[in-house]
Amino acid sequence: MATSGKVIRCRAAVIWAAGKPFSLEEVEVAPPKAGEVRIKIVATGICHTDYHVLKGTFPGAKFPVIPGHEGAGIVESVGEGVTSMKPGDKVIPFAVPHCGECSFCLNPESNYCLRGHFTQSQNLLPDKTSRFTCKGKQIHHFFWTSTFAEYTVVPEYAVAKIDAAAPLDKVFLFGCGFSTGYGAAINTAKVKPGSTCAVFGLGGVGLSVIIGCKAAGASRIFAIDINKDKFAKAKELGATECISPQDFNKPIQEVITEMTGYGVDYSFEAIGLPDTMIAALASCNMNTGVCVMIGQPPADSVLSLDPMLLLTGRTWKGTLLGGWRMKDSIPKLVSSYLEKKINSDLLITHTLPIAKVNEGFELLRAGKSIRSVLLF
Ligand code: NAD
Ligand code: ZN
Ligand code: ZN
Repeated sequence: MATSGKVIRCRAAVIWAAGKPFSLEEVEVAPPKAGEVRIKIVATGICHTDYHVLKGTFPGAKFPVIPGHEGAGIVESVGEGVTSMKPGDKVIPFAVPHCGECSFCLNPESNYCLRGHFTQSQNLLPDKTSRFTCKGKQIHHFFWTSTFAEYTVVPEYAVAKIDAAAPLDKVFLFGCGFSTGYGAAINTAKVKPGSTCAVFGLGGVGLSVIIGCKAAGASRIFAIDINKDKFAKAKELGATECISPQDFNKPIQEVITEMTGYGVDYSFEAIGLPDTMIAALASCNMNTGVCVMIGQPPADSVLSLDPMLLLTGRTWKGTLLGGWRMKDSIPKLVSSYLEKKINSDLLITHTLPIAKVNEGFELLRAGKSIRSVLLF
């Protein structure tokens, strides 16, 4: 490879300070160090989590930064000791790494790695340095993925090799949104056939929960959003009833409880607001109901709730990336996609060049897109 071992100059969408829009810059990307992989990103989605970074509400975000964590690309070069992939392989980096060696990775029920950026610095690679510079300044990584750069460097244990036949402008969704929502239903809640479900928030994540609930055989799936423009797609994907909380003069949890008798079997919050987290919890039945928190709350959020909601038996769980152990699961999910067992394409509503990254986020903010994909 002509570029192997050299600094690459390429495009990247950089946020210089909290609350500032993206600037498309030429950045320098250093070669991968030992145990790292440099990837040419081909396609990257816009997830609401990146929007938290843009708004400055992401806990611990440091600026300047290159966000992006839902991308797909091709390995350009690998650092010393990397064995699970080689230049030319198609790959998907992911935000919850899997070292395979820490005590959490050794627990088959866990998908949270102690050597991940949640316990170390998320703004720099594991060795506490950055591979990105621009205009003489160090640029921070985000989630160890930074897929809004044409070339990015990630630890080998935060990237999965996928089938060479996979269309990168479609399977990028397995890096976050689809895997998160689908896995929240299948892995975290373990939705049973014939059960009732309620999904709060019909973005890329919430709609993927609906796909998961339907695949698991749920008999009723309530889709809840204040933006009724989302209802048609929710129905297409499997929702049986669509509800806007703004159409009622009582709390939505009371509406759902009345419609179902005692509340749904499984509820999911895919918005990221304290009020809707409580509403989702109170919408599942008071005894065996399971509520899964998926939405990312703004930094420093505090919840206050009536403890009786839990005392009667409800289970309240969170999920990161739908509970998948991503290194092993992404290749399998991509294979299911290629075998047409999963159709996530309906979630992709807009395709834009990277230069239109700000337009992509405006579509998300205005509720006009489900998933926009940015192409380099
Ligand atoms: P999105 O912006 O596409 O969708 C959010 C939806 O919520 C929108 O349709 C919006 O209209 C709706 N909404 C907003 N306020 C509402 C309210 N008060 N009541 C009802 N509906 C309301 O976002 P997304 O990309 O689907 O992400 C959803 C959330 O999941 C975000 O908080 C994101 O950070 C988080 N997330 C978490 C994980 C994880 O691993 N846990 C992974 C990906 C995303
Ligand atoms: Zn995401
Ligand atoms: Zn680990």
